[in-house]
Amino acid sequence: MRKRRHRQVRWLHTRISEDLEDVLKREARRRRLPVSLFVRNVLESSLDFVDDILENSMAVARRSHDLARSVSGRADGLTDVYGWQEIILNREAACARCKVGLPVGAPTHRGLREQVGPAVFLCSACVHRLRRMPTEATIEEEEST
Ligand SMILES: [Zn+2]
Repeated sequence: MRKRRHRQVRWLHTRISEDLEDVLKREARRRRLPVSLFVRNVLESSLDFVDDILENSMAVARRSHDLARSVSGRADGLTDVYGWQEIILNREAACARCKVGLPVGAPTHRGLREQVGPAVFLCSACVHRLRRMPTEATIEEEEST
């Protein structure tokens, strides 16, 4: 049961068409319910229905977002980085993958992005790991040949 229900009972007056009134009264009679209770039930179940739709669509969106991230193998905001260029840091930074601190003067790799975005860096260990791991695209090419 949803939280919004039954906190306090209030009156809600609203204009409805004659047709809608007829339908509500007929349905209430058919279910042997007072019209007010029937209307309340209809409203609450409609809101539950909307909540369910919203929750389901948000869950679907979350799942597809997670899937997209796992397919690209990037959960660290590096999706649009197309390359890594070695630089010497002039200010402190942190590795985008392993979060290790990168001190001034450290040889580091800066991500080159397709779009404008904040600078991202990888430590040497993560760049080495990158060189050893075949990318998803390479795996697909190997499977298709
Ligand atoms: Zn790292």
